[in-house]
Amino acid sequence: MGVETATVIAAGVVGLCFGSFLNVCILRLPHEQSLVRPPSTCPKCLQPIAWRDNIPVVSWLLLRGRCRRCGAPISIQYPIIEAVAGLLWIGSVLLYGPGVHALAAAVLGTLLIGIAITDARHFIIPDEFTWGGVVLGLALSLAGGAPGFVNALIGAATGFGLLWIVAQAGHWAFKEEAMGGGDIKMMAMVGSFVGWKGVLVTLLLGALLGSIVFVPLSFRRKRLVPFGVFLAVGAAVTFVFQDAILSWYGQFLRGT
Ligand SMILES: [Zn+2]
Repeated sequence: MGVETATVIAAGVVGLCFGSFLNVCILRLPHEQSLVRPPSTCPKCLQPIAWRDNIPVVSWLLLRGRCRRCGAPISIQYPIIEAVAGLLWIGSVLLYGPGVHALAAAVLGTLLIGIAITDARHFIIPDEFTWGGVVLGLALSLAGGAPGFVNALIGAATGFGLLWIVAQAGHWAFKEEAMGGGDIKMMAMVGSFVGWKGVLVTLLLGALLGSIVFVPLSFRRKRLVPFGVFLAVGAAVTFVFQDAILSWYGQFLRGT
């Protein structure tokens, strides 16, 4: 496919920058801290990090993963997330060609990474990723993104409504919080990117994956389930393979 090298490089650079911003979000949003203030500091010596030591991936490698001032180790999570985001944005533009659909793929992927990590770590899915994502999903569908604006709206409502019902049913049946509000808002966000059919496919994949991975684990020790992680994987697979999955299912129903 003929995507120009300059476009691919630009996508990679933008992805790296969003990865860097995503690191700040993952670090601060679960603690309800501001994203802009204060500027990033070393957690050990509390000195502000200069811009040249804050270049995605490159600075971490040049500093060999240590603070320039005090030598405290800097987690390898930072460059990894930056690199993953860079590759995600490059992959989106290579797969779909430059355009709104590639942008939607990259934005959704970035949001899903943030959600999966904060949910796995803190059992929190920040509103900035979910409500913020709904706004982005609807805006991209208005700009010509795949589901179209009406389907994106219905998708957001379906995602929210279905999970709200599941949460109420779980609450009624188990007398405890079976599903967090974050999951409900997350599926509204996913719906705004993949439409209402995509919501159904995502839930199916998420539930399947969750039961394969977590049922054996939860028998051993009772623990919270970061269901958002499985929904995130389900949503990513749905975004890429929705048409193939739905056409396979259609053939399956017709018995052909
Ligand atoms: Zn330091």
